[in-house]
Amino acid sequence: MVGSVAYDDVQTPFDRRRDLLGGAASYFAVAASLYARVRLVGVVGDDFRAEDVERLRGRGVDVAALERRAGRSFHWSGRYDYDMSSAETLSTDLGVFGDWHPRLPEALRDVPFVFLANIDPEIQLDLLEQVRGPRIVAMDSMNYWLEYKRSSVADVMRRSHVVCINEGEARQFAQTFSIIRAAREILELGPSALVIKRGEHGSMLFLRDGGTFWSPAYPLEKVQDPTGAGDSFAGGLVGHLAAVGSLDADELRRAVVHGTVCASFAVETFSVDGIASATPDAIEGRYQALRSLVAIGAETLAGAAPPPPRR
Ligand code: AMP
Repeated sequence: MVGSVAYDDVQTPFDRRRDLLGGAASYFAVAASLYARVRLVGVVGDDFRAEDVERLRGRGVDVAALERRAGRSFHWSGRYDYDMSSAETLSTDLGVFGDWHPRLPEALRDVPFVFLANIDPEIQLDLLEQVRGPRIVAMDSMNYWLEYKRSSVADVMRRSHVVCINEGEARQFAQTFSIIRAAREILELGPSALVIKRGEHGSMLFLRDGGTFWSPAYPLEKVQDPTGAGDSFAGGLVGHLAAVGSLDADELRRAVVHGTVCASFAVETFSVDGIASATPDAIEGRYQALRSLVAIGAETLAGAAPPPPRR
């Protein structure tokens, strides 16, 4: 995977924190490491704390391709309102990511699963060029890149099997109010699956062959910091797909529920602390709780209960 490794300043109506370990790659790596071996490609500046690299390494994340360069690490600052929903970006400083090109070590060129986390789409394409015949490519992006590099984001979507994007960004990309229309336009670019994330309202999976699946979010009373929800979602989703090695419709549905569960842990605490606290048992508990949340009695769609007798 490639993506931003960052320090974040986060404000909510209830609290404010500075220089938190963040970035799309950090959240993704911590979540996905619950499912599979993660190899992180990225760059940090000389201000990056050694203990933060150790945190990732301690999760089993391979950080051999995480470069350190002279300069400032990626810094993002954002603010949330009382709905704790979408972030308002106050500043984005690309730092050492500004003129960086990924260099994939030879040993990683045959990886089967690739996740292009949120970062400059030209970096995402550059990395993808260096991988030989990946089985599954998934990507994420955000409004910042849609605004400045829309056509490159479209190129990344064209070359991905699974696209993850949030609701507002899907609308922005397709320049439409209709999520259904936006989904159709994105799928027409070529991916076989599209996941549209809707924050506390859950997520929607659209398949190119016409199938759909909608999942609610895991209901939480405590949300301290929504930052990284989308990246942790992607970690659970891609982690599950890598673990099962399949893009079957059923596995994609399960992957969406794993993504939902990972996101629920991520938002409970600042930085990666929430997702780092999730254990396999806790993941399984919330997975089953989500299943029962959407079960309608004992019947299933495939083996529906017989109709009531006619009078
Ligand atoms: P999300 O999962 O959407 O909440 O992602 C939040 C993370 O994205 C934060 O930790 C930021 O450091 C990172 N981020 C913010 N803006 C950008 C950007 N333009 N490119 C890449 N990563 C970003």
